Amino acid sequence: MIGQIIDGTAISAKLRGEVAIAAAALRAHQQIVPTLAVVLVGDDPASAVYVKAKAKAAREANVDVRDHKLPATTTQAELMALVAELNADPIVDGILVQLPLPPHLDSDAVIRALDPSKDVDGLHPTNLGYLAQGKPVFVPCTPKGCMRLLREVGVDPAGLRAVVLGRSVLVGKPIALLLQNANATVTMCHSKTRDLADEVRRADIVVAAIGRPEMVRGEWIKPGATVLDVGINRTAEGKLVGDVHFTSAIQHAHAITPVPRGVGPMTIACLLENTVEAARRRRG
Ligand code: NDP
Repeated sequence: MIGQIIDGTAISAKLRGEVAIAAAALRAHQQIVPTLAVVLVGDDPASAVYVKAKAKAAREANVDVRDHKLPATTTQAELMALVAELNADPIVDGILVQLPLPPHLDSDAVIRALDPSKDVDGLHPTNLGYLAQGKPVFVPCTPKGCMRLLREVGVDPAGLRAVVLGRSVLVGKPIALLLQNANATVTMCHSKTRDLADEVRRADIVVAAIGRPEMVRGEWIKPGATVLDVGINRTAEGKLVGDVHFTSAIQHAHAITPVPRGVGPMTIACLLENTVEAARRRRG
């Protein structure tokens, strides 16, 4: 059996189209232009590329973007002052502070300072708390994208056994909560898990978010399982690969995301969806 390749590029384009229609409706009927403030501190090249991609996708989805580029020497007090200003600005619906911040800055304090109603990245403790209660408001974008991919390939997690590899606040923990909220039976694995292969073998849904190139082998995948590969890793040869060994895993999976063009494109689309939702909730 050869599994279906889940086309994240096409599905994200579909989602961005839906967002564009929702944003255009807000503009036409209520004169609201959903506005996202993006804060980028320093000159991390990967972050700069990502921020540029966000700006382009936002324009196409009728979302206004305001870029705030700050030098790497920005102090905590200066960054907190900008966050306070954006929190108070009635035009700004969503605030995205691009992570990672330079090491001298306390990113937890910055996230805690965000107005939760503008936290379109879903990382404020209030939003993570709502998610843990099973009453999500703003959900972190990559996990939200993973759930949409499952829906698009017709996989209802209810009653299925899901294994999440990785327990970060950004990806692993929220995806596990979303899967639980969708009635999956969820096992979380991490670097201290004794037998990763054994856990994966029992899973109907595998979400890999560990940042270890091709560590999950095809023979670990239960026949018919759905595999979402969140990992983005660069090999010594400069090739982008996921956390799953794609060519062997697709021999067993029912459906699987490639890297690139799988989970990755969904993140920006979900950020825009959250921004339009924030505009609707705040002003609509
Ligand atoms: P973190 O480094 O924050 O977390 C990695 C997690 O993986 C930790 O929980 C860690 O366990 C676990 N882990 C590490 N090594 C192993 C191992 N050998 N066996 C089992 N578990 C292990 O990473 P993120 O969650 O931020 O990101 C994970 C991956 O996803 C990265 O490749 C990142 O680039 C990618 N990513 C992709 C996005 C996208 O848009 N597609 C968005 C965000 C991230 P422990 O807690 O015990 O240390």
